[in-house]
Amino acid sequence: MNNVICCKCVRCGREYPAAPDITTCECGGILDVVYDYEYIKTKLSRSALADDPDPTMWRYRALLPIEEDTVPQGLRVGGSPLYKADSLARELGVKALYIKDDGINPTSSLKDRASAMAVTKAVEAGYHTIACSSTGNAASSLAGNAAKAGLSTYIFVPDRAPKGKIAQLMMFGANLTAVRGSYEETFELSKKAIDKYGWYNRNAAINPYLSEGKKTVAHEIIEQLGFRAPDYVAASVGDGCTIAGVYKGLYDMYMVGLTDRIPRLISVQAAGCCPINTAVVTGEPWQPQEENTYADSIAVGVPRNADKAIKAIRDSGGICVNVTDDEIREAQRYLAKNAGVFGEPAGVTATAGLLKLSREGKLDPDAAIVSIVTGNGLKDIESAIKNCGAPVSCGNDLAEFESKFGLA
Ligand SMILES: *Cc1c(COP(=O)(O)O)cnc(C)c1O
Ligand SMILES: [Zn+2]
Repeated sequence: MNNVICCKCVRCGREYPAAPDITTCECGGILDVVYDYEYIKTKLSRSALADDPDPTMWRYRALLPIEEDTVPQGLRVGGSPLYKADSLARELGVKALYIKDDGINPTSSLKDRASAMAVTKAVEAGYHTIACSSTGNAASSLAGNAAKAGLSTYIFVPDRAPKGKIAQLMMFGANLTAVRGSYEETFELSKKAIDKYGWYNRNAAINPYLSEGKKTVAHEIIEQLGFRAPDYVAASVGDGCTIAGVYKGLYDMYMVGLTDRIPRLISVQAAGCCPINTAVVTGEPWQPQEENTYADSIAVGVPRNADKAIKAIRDSGGICVNVTDDEIREAQRYLAKNAGVFGEPAGVTATAGLLKLSREGKLDPDAAIVSIVTGNGLKDIESAIKNCGAPVSCGNDLAEFESKFGLA
């Protein structure tokens, strides 16, 4: 790969050649892909992007760790809308608010960006089977993208995973194991199986290429804003791959000269499970926590990408905020009703964080903010129905209908 220099350990600094199936450092640290931005500048420019008809994440392939002749695998990922949400901006008391709706991806979450990258690297490396553990979305997106690429999958999810995600997994033909235990225990079982059988490893953070796929969400945000960086980008945080990927994408765009600054990150976690925010705020190393939130996709007590996420939040001058499950429920209703975007609980958690910061008077009124919706609300119908209530019940009787709505 002419655009990639190496994979570098974020803990000890050791450098490795960027093999397509590389995982972690000998010291146990996670790896970061290091790019040759001077070379990339010769390939990527505003006019090159303007002339590129490809709307998917692969329009940024100059910034992605794949061989120049590699054919991207998987579904049609990326190119998600960035909506200007004026009523939400007024509610928050800020100059501009944009919703990046990544729930429109083919399997309905931002995880498709990482899974499309994973299946592309697995095919590049000559593997036929790919495996992961996941709270649900990484799994269902891997299963869908692998089905398209013709790979078989072994997938491990905690048995609490919402039914929508289980339905996707079974439909996509995954060899699915619902583990009786926490996400941490699910991860441990997947690790034992992957180590024993040598499958391609799509575990979050263990595989350094995944957040490289996720970072394309930030490339898109910058391009959709006409290359003017917003002041803040808010994201929900579980393992920390999404927020670290967002930072990497923003950093990429700055390093190749496509924008002139890096926005500050707003890291939003559930109050019942916030090991990364706690570490950033206290300055102490992160500590495992219980997984006490109904926002299943960010119920991650032992975050796998904590090192990169904490560094990204700090380097950007970021803000941390924790929200309760009730605040997440409120944001889910608010966003659907006032912006037409129906997110799953973890999908709207970033917006819940903004509503909270605004109430506490901590948002700058001149700020332009992007809030990323990371997953679609149809993934978890049971919790959504509990949140929004039941419809009006009515017979075939106009008078009954009118009385129910106070009409006529
Ligand atoms: C995975 C996920 C997140 C969090 O991403 P991490 O990389 O685990 O921090 C947030 N929202 C949704 C919908 C997700 O699926
Ligand atoms: Zn190391």
